[in-house]
Amino acid sequence: MVTSVEGTKDEGGLLMSARRTIGVTCAALVAAVAVIAGLVSAAWLPSADAAEWPLVKEGHRGPDVTTVQYLVTAHGHPTDPDGQFGPNTAAAVTAFQQAKGLGADGMVGNETWPALVIDLAEGADAPDAVNAAKVQLNKHGGRLALDGVFDAAMADAVRTFQSEHGMEATGVIDAGTWHALVSSAVGDYSLPIARETLPRDEYDDPHHDYPAVDLPVGEGTPVLAINGGEATPVNDSSCGYGVVIQADDGDRYSYCHFRSPALVSGPVATGQHIGDSGNTGNSTGPHLHVGIRRDGVSVCPQPLLLAIYDGVAPPPIAELPTSGCFY
Ligand SMILES: [Zn+2]
Repeated sequence: MVTSVEGTKDEGGLLMSARRTIGVTCAALVAAVAVIAGLVSAAWLPSADAAEWPLVKEGHRGPDVTTVQYLVTAHGHPTDPDGQFGPNTAAAVTAFQQAKGLGADGMVGNETWPALVIDLAEGADAPDAVNAAKVQLNKHGGRLALDGVFDAAMADAVRTFQSEHGMEATGVIDAGTWHALVSSAVGDYSLPIARETLPRDEYDDPHHDYPAVDLPVGEGTPVLAINGGEATPVNDSSCGYGVVIQADDGDRYSYCHFRSPALVSGPVATGQHIGDSGNTGNSTGPHLHVGIRRDGVSVCPQPLLLAIYDGVAPPPIAELPTSGCFY
């Protein structure tokens, strides 16, 4: 199951990390603007058209894929909303792009998302588009039935999401709300390695001897903070160069075997570039070791990382198992 990932720091991976950085920056901007709420209009914020959207393409799975499938169906290019981006979905996306005069590459990114999303309000007569939005609201913790109906409960869920993301709580899903739904981090977590760089099946491998995970990445792969917090650099014979980040809730995330000293000390944001992978310390080959400790007890990171990868609501750290993820 260990596939070679050396040198796979491809363009898509860089795009994904760039998006995370921009997401964090935008959140900070929104918070700052909220302080002087009432004096500043939403027009100050970057328009959705100019923003970074996630790249969704063949081989991906999860709610962003399901949303794309419902939306291309809503545009008259039906495809099964099964959450798996296969050749049929790529063909439907390509047909949509051709119909809209877009670059027909079968991938959904910055150019295609704005053309694909459909403004929605309560009572909308657009069941597939409504379901596309419900999938996103459910990704952010909603519990809405995929019945194609934009009812009062859905409008409430939209307003809740908008309030939580520093937006005006209109209950209407416009391009800005679509962008926030699709782009914001799930439960405020980030993958530790850009999504494009490491396949899903590397996140469920058992660790040796105790709960943790070893991610096979080549030297110099950017490592991102799974959760923000207070960073303390590490340099010892076991971890090598690394860092421990204590989240606000007290959970401690450790990252080991960096190529060179950690890039951070003190406050760190979720998704921030904290170091570059390597082979220092007690390590037999380049990889990133990730451990999570809650109340001094090591828990299994695998269910959390898989949920983040799939874009579904992650399990609470308190519910992560303490066995079953090592041999
Ligand atoms: Zn390890």
